[in-house]
Amino acid sequence: MDLPISLEFFPTKTPEGAVKLRAVRQQLYALKPEFCSVTFGAGGSTQDGTLQAVSEIMVEGCAAAPHLSCIGQSRESIRERLAAYTAADIRRIVALRGDLPSGYGVGGEFRYASDLVAFVRAETGDRFHIEVAAYPETHPQAKSPLSDLEAFAAKVKAGANSGITQYFFNADAYFRYLDDLQHAGVDVSAVPVVPGIMPITSSTQLMRFSDACGAEIPRWIRMRLQAYGDDTASIKAFGLDVITALCERLGQGGAPGLHFYTMNQSVATLEIVNRLGLR
Ligand code: FAD
Repeated sequence: MDLPISLEFFPTKTPEGAVKLRAVRQQLYALKPEFCSVTFGAGGSTQDGTLQAVSEIMVEGCAAAPHLSCIGQSRESIRERLAAYTAADIRRIVALRGDLPSGYGVGGEFRYASDLVAFVRAETGDRFHIEVAAYPETHPQAKSPLSDLEAFAAKVKAGANSGITQYFFNADAYFRYLDDLQHAGVDVSAVPVVPGIMPITSSTQLMRFSDACGAEIPRWIRMRLQAYGDDTASIKAFGLDVITALCERLGQGGAPGLHFYTMNQSVATLEIVNRLGLR
């Protein structure tokens, strides 16, 4: 099995964190990632950190993509971001609606990610390869699974080149999603939808994230994680088995690549890719 790999990081908040993340990235470059992406805090706290981290990654010799979320933003502020990304020689972005932290009003001049994609294309033509988010288990705010498929199709129509999924633990949901997208008019061989992979390293963090983003933890996984309690060694060992098996199935079923949510850690991602025999 040979699959392209991409890696996702989030910007650090302290100089010590940045030093640690640099070391993590150096370890992960052994996986020869196609690109690394860096998240963008819709609330604003880490937005400059995104460009800084992306610039560092490019200096380190790897292609990099900043995430860009549009909720709460004006056209002018997005235009300024795009100008900064152009000046930094960035060629790929992950275009999102984003979620504002509670306490922020909605506001802004963009409603959906498809509006952002259309704006980026209108402003910058074909300069950027545009990635967008995809939800095999349906976005939690979607009116229905069908309307969420249509939302993805609208992003493609607006000019998105490819998709990265929210993480999931059920390979069938992903394959079904690809079939449904195809029926909804998205040519998934021309617009690859890469599965997002979340290594399991901690039970409480995973439960918290999954509840917030609508990723289903199957009962058998949840029960096992709960039974391990504070036994982090067992959680990690179990997590490696489960996620390696998931990636194997995805690869065998024709997934076009694997996008790892590294959580700024190297060990689990390295071990999974090693077990898959990919590098
Ligand atoms: P959209 O595609 O706009 O969809 C949002 C909701 O609106 C969905 O329920 C959709 O069904 C619905 N919708 C869309 N268009 C229409 C329409 N025309 N009519 C009716 N309903 C519609 N968040 C961050 O803040 N920063 C990040 O860096 C970040 N990175 C991410 C990376 C990946 C790979 C993924 C999968 C998610 C990421 N997120 C990030 C989370 C993301 O911002 C949230 O999931 C957010 O709630 C939705 O963003 P979106 O781009 O999918 O929005």
